[in-house]
Amino acid sequence: MNTSPFSARCTRLIERMGAGIAIIPTAAEQLRNRDSQRPYRADSYFYYLSGFGESEAVLVLIAGASPKRILFCRDKDADKEIWDGFRWGPDAAREAFGFDEAYSIKTLDAKLAELLADQPVLWFSLGHEAAWDARIAAALNAVRAQARAGKQAPAEIRDVRAPLDNMRLIKDASEIATMRRAAAISAGAHCRAMRTTQPGRFEYEIEAELLHEFRVHGCQSPAYTSIVAGGANACILHYVVNDQPLKDGDLLLIDAGGELDNYASDITRTFPVNGRFSGPQADIYNLVLAAQSAAIAAIKPGATFIDPHNAALKTLAQGMLDLKLLDGSLDGVIESETYKRFYMHRTGHWLGLDVHDAGPYKDGETWHSLQPGMVLTVEPGCYIRPADDVPAAFHNIGIRIEDDALVTAAGCDIISHAVPKTVADIEALMAEGKRG
Ligand code: MG
Ligand code: MG
Repeated sequence: MNTSPFSARCTRLIERMGAGIAIIPTAAEQLRNRDSQRPYRADSYFYYLSGFGESEAVLVLIAGASPKRILFCRDKDADKEIWDGFRWGPDAAREAFGFDEAYSIKTLDAKLAELLADQPVLWFSLGHEAAWDARIAAALNAVRAQARAGKQAPAEIRDVRAPLDNMRLIKDASEIATMRRAAAISAGAHCRAMRTTQPGRFEYEIEAELLHEFRVHGCQSPAYTSIVAGGANACILHYVVNDQPLKDGDLLLIDAGGELDNYASDITRTFPVNGRFSGPQADIYNLVLAAQSAAIAAIKPGATFIDPHNAALKTLAQGMLDLKLLDGSLDGVIESETYKRFYMHRTGHWLGLDVHDAGPYKDGETWHSLQPGMVLTVEPGCYIRPADDVPAAFHNIGIRIEDDALVTAAGCDIISHAVPKTVADIEALMAEGKRG
């Protein structure tokens, strides 16, 4: 394993800390029921800095004159490894992952008191997990109990997530390579869904096609629960039941992405179950596609996070007026937010280790500016629930088109580009599926 991106990130965090000690635990294992665990996934911050995927592990970073990266992890255990598989153990983990020191997780509480003593600042994600808050408080009190021996506990506690969130906003080369691969696999899954969708199949059958494609190409899991929403279900933004039959004449909205080596992809496509868009479906579809094109054109260094949203919104609002979904003027619709009846979410979010990734959206009062290396989704939509004042031809049409954009020096690179999204290209791919 190439550990250099992880150690480089630790070095950058240590520089940003300036002084003190950072304690970054990984995620706890979670019980699904009785003896069955949920599939384990490391904490994103911990993984970002360590590359270490085992549970029961803690990373400690020391800043200052002699910086150090220290791992606490499970011991080797021949008996447990028969049941649950390989464990690195501290010695091999130190060697393989390039930590300066590594110790048994069993020694953590005793060692924490030593490590915290006389450090000016503790960097920790206070409030993230109550059990860890209590453990850290106990370690601080253990240092304070040694005051008469001249030991001092850190006078200041700062949130380690603040510098890390800023770092995670700009992806390095290794992150970009993983995200490109995750997006390519997910794009393939959406193509497979288009080729295999037919009237009479169930939403969960198409979900299974997606999951097959994610896993067969190496994604460890979906990045989030797949939304496979036929017909009116597409107007439920977080529809995940996926248990209904797909009907001839309906659209199918799929929002799904694979997670590869802990990095998410997040793609949405909407296409006709029978392979041909109706006139009203194509009207709304082409409006959302035009909004997405306007948003993508607004992604470039120096623009702000909100610019793509504003560009999409302007296109959508004008289209809603043209299609008689709304009355009034463009400025009036945007000012009064009447468009929210049909477009109630924002046009994107940061994407990375988390599907809604870490990183600030505002810098004080102003929206964060876009810089090369940032990755964001572009996902305008239009969701039309039946109502007396809405043209009947548009009832129950729900459409979203979502891609993943890497900001580049010249503008942006759509890393999820490999799924068709024009009406003609979608219909051509679906026809291919029917023939094949
Ligand atoms: Mg999505
Ligand atoms: Mg999204």
